[in-house]
Amino acid sequence: MPVSSPPRSLSKKSNNHLTISLSPPQLIIVTGLPTSGKTTRARQLHDYLAARLATPNPNPDSNPAPNQPQKYRLHLISDTTLSISRTVYDLSPSTLPAHVRSANASEKDARAAIYAAVKRVLSPRDIVVLDGLNYIKGWRYQLFCEAKNVGTGCCVLQVGCGGDVARGVNEARLARRDAKQEEGGQKQDVPDDDEPYSPSNWENLVFRYEEPNPMTRWDSPLFTLIWEDGEARTRAVFDQIWDALAGDARKPVRPNQSTVQRDKDPGGDYLYVLERETQDIVKRILERQSDEGGGEVSLPRVNGSGPGEGGEDLVVELPGKKVGLPQLQRYRRAFVALNRGGIGLEAVGKLAAGRLRESFVGYLNDAFEKDG
Ligand code: ADP
Ligand code: MG
Repeated sequence: MPVSSPPRSLSKKSNNHLTISLSPPQLIIVTGLPTSGKTTRARQLHDYLAARLATPNPNPDSNPAPNQPQKYRLHLISDTTLSISRTVYDLSPSTLPAHVRSANASEKDARAAIYAAVKRVLSPRDIVVLDGLNYIKGWRYQLFCEAKNVGTGCCVLQVGCGGDVARGVNEARLARRDAKQEEGGQKQDVPDDDEPYSPSNWENLVFRYEEPNPMTRWDSPLFTLIWEDGEARTRAVFDQIWDALAGDARKPVRPNQSTVQRDKDPGGDYLYVLERETQDIVKRILERQSDEGGGEVSLPRVNGSGPGEGGEDLVVELPGKKVGLPQLQRYRRAFVALNRGGIGLEAVGKLAAGRLRESFVGYLNDAFEKDG
């Protein structure tokens, strides 16, 4: 199936409010780098939605739609459910001669199978979680059009993860598979969720990955979860997806911590904001920690504001002994390196200042805890 090109023009709604399409997004397209945690998140979302659909709305007046749990059927579609192997994505030059590469027929067939599976079930009475790479923007556009065709909408859940972490997951899976084969096990015929990518296939997919762009209709609303996001944040993001699904479809989704804002920071260049916010937090910790060390330091969520402004203060829990500038700078530099926006992380990387602060404080708390 050919992937049609998305129109060149951007949505007229490309202001600071990411406006969702007119119909509730009942197709949730999961996307991310290979082995970045997509299936894990897709399953979590599926379980979350199943639970929500089974629970009657405690406050039916506020939101009539979700009070009809039986209104929706829920589906999870993935390469595994369709028995599509990782090898279909393999266009790496080392494994294929050029003429095969240009045809990339196996991947096209796989896309056709996925498209048919989505089309078969998608309707205003169905919610579909589509777990997969979904890395081609034209492909996401095509799914967006299909959703529109059947009178629903779609949204994108991007799963972000550092390139090294994702590569490590794939390498571990390769090692496990090789060990199994050495033990005399057969090469698996039926692909499963843990099937590794060949290293060149993996690298090539990372190279080909086309970031979702929340300024386009077909990639919005865009929700993001990163590897480090714990239960609370995951739930908060799922709640937002649920609201988009079941709430008033015309309600704009306000940009906040998990709907990604890109290139919109009035403070200017992202790297500058990253430096500025992390420096500010380091400075405040040094100023405010007690002489004997330990305890907590509260920081405003918004740079330059007073306590409590812009929401509940962020809290850093300090280790037993006083922390010095070199230690804090070391953590800061590590955090900056992580959030500069590596491969596949551009959208996740470009966090708004508030989320950066929160994220850095979380990072420091983890680091202090680990250091004891
Ligand atoms: P993908 O579907 O992108 O290939 P998976 O969801 O299968 O990735 O995850 C790959 C591996 O990483 C699995 O072993 C999974 O348990 C682990 N994993 C996924 N997400 C996380 C996470 N957020 N934190 C820790 N481990 C994770
Ligand atoms: Mg998967």
